[in-house]
Amino acid sequence: THFGFTNVPESQKESLVGAVFSSVASSYDTMNDLMSLGIHRLWKDHFVRTLNPGSPLARRHNETEGQGWNILDIAGGTGDVAFRMLDHATNVNHDRQTRVTIADINPDMLAEGKKRSIATPYYNTGRLSFMEANAQTMPSIPDNSVDLYTVVFGIRNFTDKQAALNEAFRVLKPGGVFACMEFSKVNNDLFNAVYKRWSFSAIPLIGQVVAGDRDSYQYLVESIEKFPSQEEFRAMIHKAGFMIPGRGYEDLTGGIAAIHKGVKP
Ligand code: SAM
Repeated sequence: THFGFTNVPESQKESLVGAVFSSVASSYDTMNDLMSLGIHRLWKDHFVRTLNPGSPLARRHNETEGQGWNILDIAGGTGDVAFRMLDHATNVNHDRQTRVTIADINPDMLAEGKKRSIATPYYNTGRLSFMEANAQTMPSIPDNSVDLYTVVFGIRNFTDKQAALNEAFRVLKPGGVFACMEFSKVNNDLFNAVYKRWSFSAIPLIGQVVAGDRDSYQYLVESIEKFPSQEEFRAMIHKAGFMIPGRGYEDLTGGIAAIHKGVKP
């Protein structure tokens, strides 16, 4: 029962993606650690540090002084990135106003995030909320209302990525930041050969042995392969209307992942 995404019509793709994430929700972090040899944690820490959520400079920039940042973490799933951003705002910037909405299309991933949030200081505070939503259309989020939009290892699963980027542009305030971390293209041929071997053989196998689910992890590997290159994705962000700061992206671990940023003018 291979998911066989390549020949699936777009209309069915969303429910298949749903099945994948429902199936991996509880083993999600263990699998991430195994597949990335723990490196995804370092990437996420770095991602959050470069964004510096809750910092006073950016608050001034967005003219919401003293109110903290309004952050939307799309495809936030288990809360991994959201909790890090709140920790950073609180511990590094001594800001207790910054709040995060975790939005995800999958109720099982959200349930896992809610469960995990109980162990954080943000549980049942106004600083953390959950929303079931499709990133491509979020009518409940007003125009120009968000300071920071994050999407980490999520966008490659979206059916219409450009629609999601346009929606990100709509909800961000002028001066607001779009930040995406996603698997990308390895820029060294030799390293790429090693990486491809690892991902195409080891990852589905680890999925089978640890999570009892080879197909979901096969899908994850294929979705990485199909995602646009650093430059192509930067062009899509620009097309949505964003200003591209500097080079527009930063490669992590030789391009296994990349962080893209855009600023709403
Ligand atoms: N950001 C988390 C992390 O890095 O640990 C979770 C990433 S997980 C690989 C991808 C998430 O994207 C899943 O929780 C899935 O439900 C969500 N997703 C897929 N398509 C979506 C869509 N159209 N809108 C919102 N979320 C979506």
